Amino acid sequence: MKEVPYFLPLQEAIDLTLQHKMFCSVENIDIDDAHQRILATDLHSKVNDPPFDNSAMDGFAVRFQDTEKAPSTLDIIATSQAAAGDENLTLNTGQAVRIMTGAPVPSGADAIIPIEACSIDGNKVTLNQPSKPHFIRKCGENIAENEIGLKKGDYLTPQSISMCATMGHATIPVIQRLKIGIISTGDELKPPGEELAYGEIYESNSYGLSGLVKMLGHIPIRYPAVHDSIEVLRNQFDIAAKECDLFVTSGGVSMGEWDYVRKLMETEGDLVFWRVKIRPGSPPLFGHWKNTPMFGLPGNPVSSHVVFRMLVVPYLRGSIGTTYPQDQIVHARLQTNVRSTKDCLTLRRVTLTSTNEGFIADQPKHQGSGNIESLSSADGLTLLQPGQSGDAGELIEVLLL
Ligand code: AMP
Ligand code: MG
Repeated sequence: MKEVPYFLPLQEAIDLTLQHKMFCSVENIDIDDAHQRILATDLHSKVNDPPFDNSAMDGFAVRFQDTEKAPSTLDIIATSQAAAGDENLTLNTGQAVRIMTGAPVPSGADAIIPIEACSIDGNKVTLNQPSKPHFIRKCGENIAENEIGLKKGDYLTPQSISMCATMGHATIPVIQRLKIGIISTGDELKPPGEELAYGEIYESNSYGLSGLVKMLGHIPIRYPAVHDSIEVLRNQFDIAAKECDLFVTSGGVSMGEWDYVRKLMETEGDLVFWRVKIRPGSPPLFGHWKNTPMFGLPGNPVSSHVVFRMLVVPYLRGSIGTTYPQDQIVHARLQTNVRSTKDCLTLRRVTLTSTNEGFIADQPKHQGSGNIESLSSADGLTLLQPGQSGDAGELIEVLLL
């Protein structure tokens, strides 16, 4: 059996996983399907935005010099409407052009008077306030042609999808969604909806993990829970390694006699490390099964979720080359004592209340790692560094869930 690094600080474990990044393919997709995807290349603008000087107001395009003093009366010579303007329209001294928001500013004009400041009489307009040379949106002032508008690795939000369209892109290069297998292990596990026999519990981890995978924009492949048997597990690993880019297991990675995931990875897999200095969730392992990367997550429901957040998410971010999803960390003052540890990063479940003095973090629930309710009702996880006291009144960092 190969000796592997054991019980590592979290960052060292993450760094080790990132020595084994996944290859991520790129696909070109219709802009209509690009929401919540990750951009695979820098995106340059195909045009200037705006493509021409245009008006920011409904009103009159004028020459600033003609209208510095109010009131001034000018001849209305034409109208400039969005996409209906005359390209050769030129404005001379003493003249005004009626203009709509977004319409091209005629040459010769360098100011817009808002309609509210005008009185119109036939083909004459009187400007009741002195003009200022503004309300003109200049060609390329938002982004110039060929300039980079969005960066490789950017997460495509509704606002960045609008940006893609503004830059003229109908097709967007994005990272292909990853297929992520989820295998629960344990003789005691029954799917929800079935009747529980004595000693059985409902299998919950694969559903939460599947939600996490979807939240990241990837494709979960949730396999039926497998029994604690080396043969069954080996067979399931073979299937997952063929069908998935990455798979995670839950359960069977501790020191117990029935912890077959660990045993199988130690004897037949390519194990990279085992155990990480975080609480809850210290038992995980990382390695490869037939060249497919895999994480062995702990079976306790809180632990499996927390380890996915702390270990698998950074691995996915690093493999893909994105900062999404960015960890949202706030400072909060502890309401009660939180039990920290000497050597581990402690991730207790807390609720947060916003006050004038900042956030208050409370720990109202029993913190057993089997208590999924303590996670589902929490707002965040404490980021208590090894040795940090965790005493009531202390200002700590909280990672938002
Ligand atoms: P294990 O790591 O296999 O020893 O599991 C630790 C604890 O987590 C045990 O109490 C298991 O019953 C529980 N457990 C393991 N897998 C799951 C699962 N998929 N859903 C809910 N609880 C689980
Ligand atoms: Mg088990």
